[in-house]
Amino acid sequence: MNKFENKVYLSSPTMHGEELKYMTEAFDKNWMSTVGENINYIENAISKRVGVNYAVALSAGTCALHLCMKLAGIKRGDLVFCSDMTFDATVNPVVYEGGIPVFIDTEYDTWNMDPAALEKAFEIYPNVKTVVVANLYGTPCKMDEIKKICDKHNAIIVEDAAESFGATYKGIQTGTFGKYNVISFNGNKIITGSSGGMLLTDSKEAADKARKWSTQARENAPWYQHKEIGYNYRMSNVIAGVVRGQLPYLEEHIAQKKVIYERYKEAFKDLPCSMNPYIESDMQPNFWLSCMLIDKNAMCKQVRSESEARYIKEKGKTCPTEILEKIASVNAEGRPIWKPMHMQPIYRNNSFIANDKNVDVGMDIFERGLCLPSDNKMTPEQQDFIISVIKECFE
Ligand SMILES: *Cc1c(COP(=O)(O)O)cnc(C)c1O
Repeated sequence: MNKFENKVYLSSPTMHGEELKYMTEAFDKNWMSTVGENINYIENAISKRVGVNYAVALSAGTCALHLCMKLAGIKRGDLVFCSDMTFDATVNPVVYEGGIPVFIDTEYDTWNMDPAALEKAFEIYPNVKTVVVANLYGTPCKMDEIKKICDKHNAIIVEDAAESFGATYKGIQTGTFGKYNVISFNGNKIITGSSGGMLLTDSKEAADKARKWSTQARENAPWYQHKEIGYNYRMSNVIAGVVRGQLPYLEEHIAQKKVIYERYKEAFKDLPCSMNPYIESDMQPNFWLSCMLIDKNAMCKQVRSESEARYIKEKGKTCPTEILEKIASVNAEGRPIWKPMHMQPIYRNNSFIANDKNVDVGMDIFERGLCLPSDNKMTPEQQDFIISVIKECFE
């Protein structure tokens, strides 16, 4: 074999059959709308499973984040501390409300927001009231440290658990640590509705507001009465049927992803690289994506412009660009690490707070790291082949 016949994806939807049953039920009962049994079911089941009082099903995780920013009361010109190395959906909703993201650098232990950098940020901007923190690739952030700092400064947390549904920190599910929290059912997430997301909170008032805003902010009146700006953000009952069918398989998906992660880790243990890390005593990630970080001394020269990457091969050395090219050449899908927000053209003028001003951790991980094929339908044989392709890059 020198190439997969069927592409091995980074992370693609894994259906089981029940999804179709609940979608068909919605069709047969004509609940082809943004109300219905599937929505009620998943709101109830997921709020119980995660351990929050309320769950509001929405059309995307991004919509849920937007409503979190409204609930947090972000106004035009407000500074908001945000994770830096993450998908831009974590921070764009801050800007929807006119807020200004201030990016907090990353730490090496979990690749999430660095509590020490957050503390520095509060020294510079003591009046910030909202911190948006993401759990990258399914690994929880250092939540106790972050929470302590936020409490000290009277700031609330919005937890973006879009990638970490099912992961735990000190035995507690992610998606519960913020005042307002988000999970996503996008097609590539640990379970999917094809799209969709959810806002999680313990506050009835917040959940009621989110429900109202997501359905065009109708007032309780015999006609369409509006006192506030509304949105069309509610989840479809058909999509909720897919989520409902996927929900019993969350544990199975996590177990499969963990096996993939451990297999890579074992295979690469003698190479000059490491896997995306977590703190074993505190965290049980959902292992959504397996990633690798090449040791500094094993990096060949690599140059990236805004849209292109080049490298110069050296014996015994490699770089993410080479590995990604080699993975693609066998019809498998890898991906660079999320390019940090402070390096993005759209956010380049925003403040960026690092713990050590001589070290840009996010930029470093972006340069040396990559996401590996992590699809839970990948067979051990397929993974072994990908591993052999990667090993060759280090020769
Ligand atoms: C996927 C994702 C989102 C957005 O979720 P959608 O459902 O795709 O809108 C937000 N934040 C992070 C970190 C994500 O990975």
